[in-house]
Amino acid sequence: MTIAVIGRGPIGSAAARHLARAGQAVVLIGPGEPAQKATHRGVFASHWDEGRITRALDPDPFWSAVSRASIARYAEIEAESGIGFFTESGAMIAAPAGGDYMRDVAAVQAEAGINAETLTGAALAARFPCFAFPDGIEARYEPRGAGHVNPRRMVAAQTEAARRAGAEVMDATALRLDITAKGARVITDAGDVPADRVLVANGGWANTLLPEPLPLAVHARTIAFFAQDAHAQDTFAQDTFAQDTAAAPGGMPTLVYRTPAGEVPYLLPPIRYPDGQHYVKIGGDPEDSLLDTPEAVGDWFRSGGSVEVGVYLRTLIEGLMPGLDTSRMHVEPCVTVFTPEDRPAIRRLGARLAVAVAGCGRGAKCADELGGWAGVVVGGGARGPKTPPRAVPTPPPPHGRGALLRRDTGPQRARSEPRAMGWSWARATRAPARSVFRGFHFRTGAYSRAHEPARTYRPRSSRASAPGAPDSPP
Ligand SMILES: Cc1cc2nc3c(=O)[nH]c(=O)nc-3n(C[C@H](O)[C@H](O)[C@H](O)COP(=O)(O)OP(=O)(O)OC[C@H]3O[C@@H](n4cnc5c(N)ncnc54)[C@H](O)[C@@H]3O)c2cc1C
Repeated sequence: MTIAVIGRGPIGSAAARHLARAGQAVVLIGPGEPAQKATHRGVFASHWDEGRITRALDPDPFWSAVSRASIARYAEIEAESGIGFFTESGAMIAAPAGGDYMRDVAAVQAEAGINAETLTGAALAARFPCFAFPDGIEARYEPRGAGHVNPRRMVAAQTEAARRAGAEVMDATALRLDITAKGARVITDAGDVPADRVLVANGGWANTLLPEPLPLAVHARTIAFFAQDAHAQDTFAQDTFAQDTAAAPGGMPTLVYRTPAGEVPYLLPPIRYPDGQHYVKIGGDPEDSLLDTPEAVGDWFRSGGSVEVGVYLRTLIEGLMPGLDTSRMHVEPCVTVFTPEDRPAIRRLGARLAVAVAGCGRGAKCADELGGWAGVVVGGGARGPKTPPRAVPTPPPPHGRGALLRRDTGPQRARSEPRAMGWSWARATRAPARSVFRGFHFRTGAYSRAHEPARTYRPRSSRASAPGAPDSPP
């Protein structure tokens, strides 16, 4: 069976790796990162950065479970690909003591047996002098198995591991899908890809390809970066810059902080970027701005982000880290994709079509688990995901043709319908025998080739090597 995975991001590349290791013929389709984002007319991504927080602690048991399952496999992916992406800098969550947030975090910690220290008051200040928390804050600090991943390198590692397991990787943008009873075809700007099944895993652009839009909310996000001089650090311990070693006392961990005023900034320690500079990064927009069309998403990425949000974030970080050099700031744009139920949308939409999107602002650290789950859902995964079934998202309300998700009720379940994690996808509203899915066209640029005569891209029909064995990487 040939499975086309659309979207070479954290989730798509993870799914491709799992599917290829399970013995499927996989074509992973996605474009590379553009050199000039301000003038780029194609699709963008939510992972074109050097740092994403990773941690087991979370107030929500679901996100903790998928993160723990993924973190446990980072070393495996790094070894399979030869590409490192995880820095064990430690991770901290802080919020007013006695509040709901820390109560939920504590409950998840106890339930899952997560190794984390509780710190308050003078002990917190002494342990992490880089932060100036107000009184009444409780922090939970994970010293091991937590810190940050480099999402660009994580995607490169997952892609390389998928390739070594036999997957084809295609540098292309999918323009539309043709799905019939007999097969599927992905029309891309580099030729058509025939497939038996298609997994749409292209983040905030999913609705440009799906036959019926999913209820996804794409939010504009601004991140502020503060350049640091690696040789003039007197406010941080030297370990703050030790990117390749485990967290040491005093080093700056990643931080997710719920302030007494209800703001939720998150911070990453100095990370070296491709320009050679180290940057401390802070995110946490004061309000959500919905981007409701693909054009709005593209315009947002090209805009360079919001300077006003950057100024707001600078005020926050100056209060929290008084010793930080904030004189050299720049901002960058990104988007987060949410579902109404705050769970990834990983589901079958028809006999040949599945979707795996919506990291809900947390989808990098747990992408491996979500990708494994997507592989099962699209019907080619051999190994079930590790997430406990009870953590599976509650079914969303029926939405559009083919998107109806029902609990398996037994005999009336269509035998031929693939199952995943105890759920089956009802065929009550079947796709017509032949449907040509809605295309998507930018006003200019990348998508104009959609109407050119099709050139057919032919994936290898079978894998060239055993799972995990080195293939012939370029
Ligand atoms: C500012 C910010 C901070 C974040 N911080 C964290 C964090 O600390 N920890 C964490 O775990 N998560 C974090 N996230 C979330 C995380 O980055 C996302 O959840 C994750 O990137 C989602 O992965 P994805 O594969 O679904 O989407 P993406 O990363 O967007 O990847 C989708 C891919 O699909 C491609 N694509 C799009 N359209 C097409 C098409 N038509 N054809 C082919 N390819 C296509 C895109 O180019 C892209 O490469 C953050 C997100 C943002 C914006």
